[in-house]
Amino acid sequence: MEKVSFQTVRETNLRSVLRTVRELAPCSRAAVAAATGLNKTTVSSLVVDLMGRGLVRETGETSQRRVGRPGVLLALDDRSVAAIGVEVNVDYLSVVAVDLLDRELVERHVPLDARAAGARECARRIVAALEETMKLPEVRDRTVVGVSVAVPGLIDVPSGVVTRAPNLGWRNVPLGDLVRECLAGMPVLVDNDANLGAMAEYRFGPCSGTSDLVYLTGEVGIGAGVLTGGELLRGAGGWAGEIGHLELEPNGPECSCGRRGCLEALAGVEAILREALPDRVPDHPLSGGDVAALVGTAVERAQAGDPTTVAALERAGTWLGRGVAALVNVVNPGALVLGGYFVPLTPWLLPRCREAALARSFAPEAGGCRMEPSDLGLSAAARGGAAVMIHALDTGALPLPKATAPA
Ligand SMILES: [Zn+2]
Repeated sequence: MEKVSFQTVRETNLRSVLRTVRELAPCSRAAVAAATGLNKTTVSSLVVDLMGRGLVRETGETSQRRVGRPGVLLALDDRSVAAIGVEVNVDYLSVVAVDLLDRELVERHVPLDARAAGARECARRIVAALEETMKLPEVRDRTVVGVSVAVPGLIDVPSGVVTRAPNLGWRNVPLGDLVRECLAGMPVLVDNDANLGAMAEYRFGPCSGTSDLVYLTGEVGIGAGVLTGGELLRGAGGWAGEIGHLELEPNGPECSCGRRGCLEALAGVEAILREALPDRVPDHPLSGGDVAALVGTAVERAQAGDPTTVAALERAGTWLGRGVAALVNVVNPGALVLGGYFVPLTPWLLPRCREAALARSFAPEAGGCRMEPSDLGLSAAARGGAAVMIHALDTGALPLPKATAPA
């Protein structure tokens, strides 16, 4: 028992030094000691340990001190570890690997008809995409500390089970276990795509640092990742943020949830394409690969001033604004970020979205809510998930990598 508690204290201290170096780098051991309240001898020992694990390195520079020996400066080691995020969508997988500094090492897109493939085949393809990524030159010499998988659906995060993903046709899929057992027990986080997209926008996007932020996924469905005070709002059963199923038009078009007139049946990308390109979009659900090409066609026609396409996009923008007003009235975000396929459509969606949101929010000026397109492309959730895994090293949610060099 004694030994366990000793190791726990040491682990806690290792993570505290890691967090401090992340905040202060480049910084001396003395500065880490001052910031953590640990004594200098302890800090020196912890730094040696973190260097052996490939988490901290000496920069080769020294601090300028008037008295005594100059202190060698420390920084996070950006050469040794990586985390990988995968995002499952109806028509593609996105994969992003990041280093310890959250910098992107690799971004890949793999076309995948996820509806046709089914859950088990999707899990197999996710594992294959991860294994291929781990073999790439940017990643292969690094220790991968964890993997995240973003799914458009309701997720039981502790068990990694996808409870329900109507746009993929999944119910009760143990995705975390399916992926983990193929990756030799590597830590795997399964979370909702909108939640991980919101984390990405909080860290990297045009509204980064906004701690009350909503990220709207622009996929076949619409999900919202809601951050309040920098924390994800999950709700009692994980259902928070299902803005896509806000009923706006009782007699409106049928929704994937079985009801009618939900926001995503009016302004989800599939609904938008059906209205914007009536000659091109079939009545049955779109299959993988179609969506990206059709969004491209809609953009071309809108740029050329095609009245049917422009009117459809503007109508969808107005519906989106009504959804945004509901969010403003309930959570008062400082920023709302439109992601995914909404991004190329924002020149037509966003003006109407703003107008409708302003007109329908109780708070003046929509409570100060900025509305912006994401600049993270189709990988926001993969990027956010990878960053969540990297920061889990600092917080203790992930085990620290073992020493690779002699300490
Ligand atoms: Zn619905």
